[in-house]
Order: sequence, then structure tokens, then C-alpha cells
Amino acid sequence: MENTQNILSVENLKKYFPLPKSGLFSREKRFLRANDGINVTIRRGETFALVGESGCGKSTLGRAILQLDAPTEGRVRYYEKSGKETELTACTDREMRALRQRLQIIFQDPYSSLNPRMTVGRIIGEGVWTHGIYPRKSKALNDYVLEVMDACGLQPHFINRFPHEFSGGQRQRICIARALALRPEFVVCDECVSALDVSVQAQILNLLADLKEQRLLTYLFISHDLSVVRHVADRIAVMYLGRIVELGETEEIFRRPAHPYTVALLSAIPSIEEEKREKIVLRGQLPSAISPPSGCPFHTRCFMAQEICSTKPVTLQETETGHFSACHFAEMVKNGARKNG
Ligand code: SF4
Repeated sequence: MENTQNILSVENLKKYFPLPKSGLFSREKRFLRANDGINVTIRRGETFALVGESGCGKSTLGRAILQLDAPTEGRVRYYEKSGKETELTACTDREMRALRQRLQIIFQDPYSSLNPRMTVGRIIGEGVWTHGIYPRKSKALNDYVLEVMDACGLQPHFINRFPHEFSGGQRQRICIARALALRPEFVVCDECVSALDVSVQAQILNLLADLKEQRLLTYLFISHDLSVVRHVADRIAVMYLGRIVELGETEEIFRRPAHPYTVALLSAIPSIEEEKREKIVLRGQLPSAISPPSGCPFHTRCFMAQEICSTKPVTLQETETGHFSACHFAEMVKNGARKNG
């Protein structure tokens, strides 16, 4: 089927990690449910953000989408500009290696994701010749690496230097250059500014925004920080305990959140000028993803929980066009209800 507006679709994706048995004689198989039935479609050209506390499964989802870790169940489809559809979850390793040129990832830690023994030129150029874009050791490759470095704000004389000679922000620019040198269409940015100082974060976010516009990229932007996401994302999916609990346009989510968990996350942002939100401190810790709470998995921490919430399962429902929430009381939440009863 032709699909030119979307670049990826994820259907009922599950990623369970098997755990050791609980006792010597136990027969019970246990799993950590890092992703538990994710359905989402990413539009070509948008920045789609995944947000949630650490441990909610957002990085696992990014990796499962790119098949860096095979999902336990579910399908991921990739749509080329022509509309040609490829089911990534059915690809062989060889097929995935070829597709990886178009589907890239930038990791959180620019310190550990660069080989300390390689020069900047080699780090950026290696994927380029591996994928046959330019021949190895050619002048064309060297010129191309310099061109990508320039686009990423790296000076030409950095080409023969090593990663340890650079600051965190410059290292992240090298990581971005490495990913973009392959001319990808889709890039997963996995907490790619979290390890950087606030002023450097802004520079990297601006660079990503410029490159997106110049190169017509689509980003899956993974972050625990809603205040960062607000400035970059077109749409946001909020994750809790391996599931998406709210999804919608960025402005709509900030203006009228439809899930109590989102309300709590928003209340923790210090500078929301247009509206002073009452800070909501969630009770307790994030429950274990090994045996999530019954009914609505958020009920153990929810400030709006009612009796029904611990028994009746929730599903993601559209509350208005394009805005989804997995809460029995989504309308009340949107209308500003904050307290139990
Ligand atoms: Fe809270 Fe109940 Fe809504 Fe879950 S369903 S988020 S527990 S109000």
C-alpha cells in the first residue's frame, strides 16, 4: 500500500527482556516488559518526541524501531518517499545493514560512542565508504567529510584530531556529523543533549533544527525533559511503564494535557510563563515493569485515581482529533481537574 505522508509505523510493538526464575524450583517465566503494545505512526518531516521518566522504555523503543534490538512482538514498517513499504521487523541482518544508511541514531553519551583511536575524519568517513557513497581514501571522500563537518560546525583542521581532544558539545557534533554523513531520512536522537551543559544543549538543538530543515529529516527525539522537547517537537508521546499514555500535538499537550501523568510532568517544569501550574509531586516510585499494576498502570501514583482505575484496563483513546489519552477521566483532566474526587 502506498504511504507517502508517513515514514514509519509501529504496530503493537512489545519488547520483553527475559529474567532469571524467582526461585530454584519456580517454573514461572518472568519478563521485564520494557515496551508493552506500542502503536504509533511517525510522519515524514516531523520531530516526534518520546518523553517519560528514566526506565519508562523510551530508549528501548527507539532501538527496537531501528532493529538494534529485535522486538519480541509487533511490526515496524518503513515507507520510502516513493511510497514503497518495507517491514523492518521482517528484514534479514543484511537487509537491515543496507537500510541503516537511511535510519540513523545519535546516542546520549558523546564520550563513549566515539572510538578513541580513530581520527574525526575516519569516524565520519568510515560509514560513507562502507555504504559505497564515496571510495575509501579518495579525495572525493575527504572533500565530502569536510563538507559534512562544516555543516555541523566543525572546523576543517579537526579532521586529523582524536575525540579526547574535544569538549562534550564538539563530540556530540562529531556524532551528528557521523550520522548525517550517511544522508539518512530518519534519525533517532536518544537523549542526545542530556549529557551537555544547558548553553551547549541550545547550540546542539539549533544545529539539529537547521540540519533537519536543510536535509528534510525526520527525527524521533527521545528525552526525559519536557522543557527541551517543547522547543523541538511537533508531536509528543508520553510514556509510562512501557506504554504510551498520551499522544498529541506539542502545543495541545502543553495547553490541555489529557493524562494526569503528563499534568504532573508539566507541573515540574520551572518556567512555564503563561500559566503558573501547581507543582504535583507523584507519590511512590515507578512500579516494576516485571509485574505492572492492574487496571491503569498509573493508578498507584495517580492523584486523580478512583476505585475503577485499579481494575478496569485503559487503552489509548482519541479525545479530539489527533489527541489521545489512556485515562478513564481524560475529559476531566483536560478541563483542569487536579484532585481526587
Ligand atoms: Fe489516573 Fe485513573 Fe486516569 Fe489512570 S485512569 S491516569 S489512575 S485517573
